[in-house]
Amino acid sequence: MTLQIKKGTSKKGLLAEIEKRTGVNLSACFQCKKCSSGCAVGDLVESPPSEIMRRLHLGAGDELLESDLIWTCASCETCSSRCPMGIDVAAVMDALRVLCLERSKAKVTPKVFNRAFLNSVKRHGRTYEMGMVTAYKFGTGAFMGDVDKFPMMLKKGKLSLLPSSGADKKTVKRIFKNLRQKKEGE
Ligand code: SF4
Ligand code: SF4
Repeated sequence: MTLQIKKGTSKKGLLAEIEKRTGVNLSACFQCKKCSSGCAVGDLVESPPSEIMRRLHLGAGDELLESDLIWTCASCETCSSRCPMGIDVAAVMDALRVLCLERSKAKVTPKVFNRAFLNSVKRHGRTYEMGMVTAYKFGTGAFMGDVDKFPMMLKKGKLSLLPSSGADKKTVKRIFKNLRQKKEGE
């Protein structure tokens, strides 16, 4: 695949901001592509992780936030564990997702999914899939999408009708509270 580098929308690109948020030294990347070859979703995306790293390095700006990997990434951290330079590539993906939301570059679907996921964890202490699916469907209006998979998921125990009771809600609430206070103090 031909790598096209578009001119960034900001003079400095995203590199310094991502390094500041993650503590990662992106210049250490020497494009061995081990992160991409192990990526769980590498075959499904246009820009695998090594390409994202290269584009960041070359000064890509906000246009990078439209890359499909940012919201396809499964946060499996395989890329980070495979990197011979110890670069936390998964943390870079996290930071790009946050920037994407902050700069309102996210398309509706990932934005709704992200909000449904976080609200679910905040409320129940861990994900409550049924609640998440409901919030997601109301947020996107895609009521009938994947509805055929519902009976099989129920049968295989992938969806439960009630939220789990084993979560440490207090700790999770404290994490969200600390995060909110940190953001307010910035
Ligand atoms: S594995 Fe590490 S060094 Fe290799 S391309 Fe990916 S980020 Fe760069
Ligand atoms: S964390 Fe994301 S980018 Fe890294 S290997 Fe997993 S899916 Fe790919």
